[in-house]
Amino acid sequence: MQDCVFCKILRGELASEVIAETDDIIVIKDINPKAPIHFLIIPRKHMNDIQSMAHVDFFYGSKIFAMAYHLSKTIPNAQDFKLHVNSGKTAGQIVMHLHVHFIAGKLEGAL
Ligand code: AMP
Repeated sequence: MQDCVFCKILRGELASEVIAETDDIIVIKDINPKAPIHFLIIPRKHMNDIQSMAHVDFFYGSKIFAMAYHLSKTIPNAQDFKLHVNSGKTAGQIVMHLHVHFIAGKLEGAL
């Protein structure tokens, strides 16, 4: 997707702080963190939101859980965390490339 911010990051056209990556997903620091630890788990494939996923792409769900598990084990102070998805504009989604917020460190009041 030409104008998608996360696709630009994935293509290396936009800078970001990469925390982890696999063949299927990338994890970056949120540019405007709502908690001491606020990452975005982003599938490499462009999908607008959960509603527009094809059934064959549902494996991304388990990849994202596996990544959350990995982050919780390897990032200091992230053993307890929240996963948060805004799916669709009226649900508060701003960047229309499916992503999951990984939030830890201070959970009260974060998203
Ligand atoms: P959402 O409301 O779920 O679409 O959230 C989009 C998130 O992406 C927000 O928390 C933004 O701060 C974050 N964001 C937007 N642009 C960037 C960027 N270039 N690098 C990192 N995070 C970003």
